[in-house]
Amino acid sequence: MEQCLLAKYRDFLPTTPQTPIITIGEGDTPLVRSQRLEREIGCGELYFKLEGCNPTGSFKDRGMVVAVAKAIEAQNSAIICASTGNTSASAAAYGAVCGLTTFVIVPRGNIALGKLAQALIYDARILAIDANFDKALELVRVLAQKHPIALVNSLNPHRIEGQKTAAFEIVDALGDAPDYLFIPVGNAGNITAYWKGFVHYKQVGRAASTPKMMGFEAEGSAAIVRDKVIPDPKTVASAIRIGNPASWRGAVAARDESGGEIDCVNDEEILDAYRLLAAKEGVFGEPASAASLAGLIKLAKSGYDFSARKVVCVITGTGLKDPDTAIQSAKPLTELPADLETLEKVIVQG
Ligand SMILES: *Cc1c(COP(=O)(O)O)cnc(C)c1O
Repeated sequence: MEQCLLAKYRDFLPTTPQTPIITIGEGDTPLVRSQRLEREIGCGELYFKLEGCNPTGSFKDRGMVVAVAKAIEAQNSAIICASTGNTSASAAAYGAVCGLTTFVIVPRGNIALGKLAQALIYDARILAIDANFDKALELVRVLAQKHPIALVNSLNPHRIEGQKTAAFEIVDALGDAPDYLFIPVGNAGNITAYWKGFVHYKQVGRAASTPKMMGFEAEGSAAIVRDKVIPDPKTVASAIRIGNPASWRGAVAARDESGGEIDCVNDEEILDAYRLLAAKEGVFGEPASAASLAGLIKLAKSGYDFSARKVVCVITGTGLKDPDTAIQSAKPLTELPADLETLEKVIVQG
């Protein structure tokens, strides 16, 4: 059996002999070479890191397994998070397998159905409040300070540590770091974590180089791009609908130290990339995930030359969590009578 994430990367993680080695099968996700878009966009090599293949369907599991293991080591019996959805699904799953009480604070009416379904079936205590994500995060910070409950949002440094492992896997798969890493930016924990991971691997000689970090916010919630807090963030991509990123400074450092960029893409660009990814590559990511590909397409159109470059787009979560957006943005289905002649006509005409 493959070693689990906590065991495999023990030397790179904040584990001690007292840290319980828990797993529900996180990490070790596929890095898949593009079949069609690589040529159409004009990249030397283009890969997708399929983080939707994690057990709860997003990269959040990598950080959560570390955060929950450390919470148990610190003898907490409850965990809490604010969430736009994927963090709550992940926290609830690890809380369940470890027998912890999981409190999840979500913005009422603003969470994709699949994600809510996950937290519910994993038996978390879900508290839906009339507030956006940023306000919910403010509240859980206070609650976690006042009560013996472990905060498992990405403010928890163990989350970032665990999320570094995706960068390790990319280097292990390619033999070195890629030239560019494209990644969606919401709360900015993930871009911070990847950068830490790439730097860490270079320091210990497992990689010769580090990539340029290319982070993409949604235009309606582009706090880092505009260099100001967005009080009422908007975008179809709910996982990056965040107006005051907790790891703001980490993201800026990743950009500056790597020689990369943080830019934004609008909802139309996000949904175009979301459809292309599915229709041309067979990869169904959630809308926020497509911000990485949307960013790559935007830069290629604006004159960037990736033709001799190795590019990785992180596809952060699975599209199955948000079927409503898929159905609304895809071509409608064709309804027909159950009649051979009519069906033949349609099939022959294409
Ligand atoms: C959490 C999440 C993001 C944003 O990651 P941050 O670390 O908050 O920047 C992007 N996509 C998906 C699917 C997510 O779950």
